[in-house]
Formats: sequence, structure tokens, C-alpha cells
Amino acid sequence: MAVNGNRDRRGIGMTSLRTRRRLINRLRDQGITSEKVLGAMLETPRHLFIDEALAHKAYEDTALPIGHNQTISQPFIVALMTQMVMENRMPVKKVLEIGTGCGYQTAVLSLLVNWVFTIERISALQQATKNRLPGLGYRNVSYLNGDGFAGWESNQPFDGIVVTAAPETVPETLVNQLSVGGRLVVPVGGSKGQRLRVVTRTHWGYDEEQREAVRFVPMLNGRI
Ligand code: SAH
Repeated sequence: MAVNGNRDRRGIGMTSLRTRRRLINRLRDQGITSEKVLGAMLETPRHLFIDEALAHKAYEDTALPIGHNQTISQPFIVALMTQMVMENRMPVKKVLEIGTGCGYQTAVLSLLVNWVFTIERISALQQATKNRLPGLGYRNVSYLNGDGFAGWESNQPFDGIVVTAAPETVPETLVNQLSVGGRLVVPVGGSKGQRLRVVTRTHWGYDEEQREAVRFVPMLNGRI
């Protein structure tokens, strides 16, 4: 990778480690308490996951366009969902992500678990991410161009599942691919409003919790 200006992993000016630290402090003020998650966010150069023209906005707490009508999630939401999925008495080793997008959430997760399995329905978007992540040092990731509603049968069960697009209801197939104790974090709802749900698989069935109001792109059927 060319190491110049904003494209340097360390960044300069608006993409520097100092700017990134300010974001981490804001996340802490907003209630992110896991030092592990905050550490992973500090290490992940968000400016390298978006178009260079937007790099100066990389450490503002906002969603940004990544092409194909999709967006990179707001850092606070990435931190919150990561914290939710990592809150587990057992070690979280294998995580499934639905909606690879530009791979920012993938990268944060990959610093915290042994292996990330990630599914994206738009093949062009996934190909770009698959080309980018290994060069940045994120190698413990498997990619699938597929429909996330089906999960990833051959690699289940997962200790955690993070969905970064919003279905209308909790996809039952995904709940069934959780290990006992594993958590599914998913934004649920249509255009009228969405809320994060945390579904924990138990020996007997599952527990469900409603959390923050959020806004994600819709989870769509099929792959392209
Ligand atoms: N985690 C991403 C967020 C990308 S936006 C990031 O940090 O960049 C959500 C992504 O979910 C989009 O790329 C969209 O194409 C994808 N998506 C929507 N429905 C899907 C489905 N059924 N299966 C897999 N991916 C899906």
C-alpha cells in the first residue's frame, strides 16, 4: 500500500492517532465501557475504509457513504454492537457478521475474536473489502457473497452474530446458528423505526432484550 498523506495507516491531521483518541473519549462518554472494545476501535484506521475525499470525516461519529447505496456505520453503533456481542461469560471465539460493507465492523471484530465469518450480498462491495483487509493486517476473516438470512450453515455454531442491516423481524435461522450462551445483535424494524435486539441462546430456548433505537439500511433478500 502507498504510504502517503491520509492513506497512511497512522494518519495525519484529521486522521491522526490524536483525532482517533478524541473519538474514543467521546465513545467512553457515551457509555462504551469495554476497554477491549475501545482499544480495538483506537487501533482501527477508519479513514482507510472510506473514500479518500471523505477521510477528514472518518473520526466524526457519523455514518458515511461507501458506494452501492450503502453506508459505513456510525462508530458509536459499531462500538455498542461489538460490546453487546462480546458480553459473554464464555470466550467469544467465532463470530458471524451479516453485511460486510466496507469491512470496518469486520476489522474491529477481528481484533477481538479468533475468527470472523462475514457475509455480504453485493459481490462488488465484498470483493473490494476482501482485497483491502489482508493488506491492513486483518487476516482472520472468511468471506461469503451470499444472503445473510441463511446464515453460514457449514461454520455454525457461532459464539456471536452481528447483523449490520435491518430485517423486519429477528431471523430465526440466525438464532439457530448460535452456540448456547451466544448472542445475536440485530437492528429490527422497517422504515418507521428500528431498535437493536440482543437475543441470547440458552439451554432452553432464548432470551430477548430490546435496546437502543437505531437506523440501518434494510436487510434485503438474495445476492447480487
Ligand atoms: N458493517 C458495514 C455496514 C455496511 S451497511 C460497515 O461497517 O461498512 C450494511 C450492509 O449489509 C450493506 O453492505 C448491504 O449490502 C448488506 N446487506 C443487506 N442485506 C443483506 C443480506 N441479506 N445478506 C448480506 N448482506 C446484506
